[in-house]
Amino acid sequence: MDVRNCKNCGRLINYIGGAPLCENCKKKLEEKFQEVRAYLEEYPGSSVERVSEALDVSVKQIRQWIREERLTLSVAGADGVVCEQCGAPICTGRFCDKCKAEMANTFAGAIEKPKPKLQEAQKSERDNKNRMRFL
Ligand SMILES: [Zn+2]
Ligand SMILES: [Zn+2]
Repeated sequence: MDVRNCKNCGRLINYIGGAPLCENCKKKLEEKFQEVRAYLEEYPGSSVERVSEALDVSVKQIRQWIREERLTLSVAGADGVVCEQCGAPICTGRFCDKCKAEMANTFAGAIEKPKPKLQEAQKSERDNKNRMRFL
């Protein structure tokens, strides 16, 4: 059994993977995410800073959700979101399409992956920098 302290409130928890948070803090965080989601539905294209200020949620937490692919930026590389492998600007997640494809090839052999939707990426580049939408 892996016992850890909750990252948020310090309570001891049985760690089972994912974020080291107790049930209480996990629930609170989930509620916060729903608030962010509702906010972005009402004000699509809000910047990370704006959401952070409006809902009293840290920029770090919003970035975490972007890394988890729960939120996505409409412009690649806005707010310093870059591929962890090669540093290329990305909209969401941890790696760019190229690195993801390379990793997928490494794992799955030489299976050809479907090409990313270029058109959609180009369309979103016309939006202002540093904006998000809900996935
Ligand atoms: Zn906690
Ligand atoms: Zn990359």
